[in-house]
Amino acid sequence: MTSTSPLVAHGQPTEYFTFVSLSSLGVPHATTTKHCPGVSSFAEPIVPEAPKPPFRSEATAVLGATGLEMSRVSYARQVHGADVARVPAGGGFAGLVDVLVTVERGVPLAIFTADCLAIVLYDPSARALCVAHVGWRGTVRGATQTAVRAIRDVGARPGSLRAAIAPSIGPCCYEVDEPVTAELARAFGDRWRAWVAPSRGGHVMLDLWSANEALLVEAGVAPESIENPRLCTACHPDLLYSYRRGNRGRLVTVAAVP
Ligand SMILES: [Zn+2]
Repeated sequence: MTSTSPLVAHGQPTEYFTFVSLSSLGVPHATTTKHCPGVSSFAEPIVPEAPKPPFRSEATAVLGATGLEMSRVSYARQVHGADVARVPAGGGFAGLVDVLVTVERGVPLAIFTADCLAIVLYDPSARALCVAHVGWRGTVRGATQTAVRAIRDVGARPGSLRAAIAPSIGPCCYEVDEPVTAELARAFGDRWRAWVAPSRGGHVMLDLWSANEALLVEAGVAPESIENPRLCTACHPDLLYSYRRGNRGRLVTVAAVP
């Protein structure tokens, strides 16, 4: 069974959440809410030619208070793909990728989302960390399996991994149609049918949480080591950004090797 322990809320109103499992391992981390100031919005895309950290000083202050050393943060221009960057000790711009991996202590890895999943993988024995941006395209393109492979490549064992899934769009709110299901069928055969529920004609409700939990387990992660609070971005417009709901800021999930 996947763990559904609730996230721990910080601030009033809540500025960010932390995961019980990652905190118990001493991993500095946070997933912001819309009440965290200073996180860049979709209106300010990261330009590959001139990347600058998508955090203003207010965000650096809030996230710095969690023990994250934001001067070394690494971030990418996320492109809904499955390419990986191995992040060096200095952090910084990692390129056009959706998976970041490191064994460097104290380098925060950041993934921006507004409905997509941010998946954090950590192996406390190998002290290896990986974060991934996974929406339906990332799911189809294998970003989750790539993340497990990438962290194995730096010394982690899948059986030792802890996984955490940040707030993202749930099966309650994620209606998709044939162009998406056709891609799922191409990537997964009939397997995708277990990840959808019927909706109005020609549409289904897609459960990206179940899909990616299944892919993590298939890659060797123990089900009980996957923490998914199942907090839906579209259901909580007061707290979270949701692209689908037209609530278009960005949440960021940041974590570092302790
Ligand atoms: Zn929902």
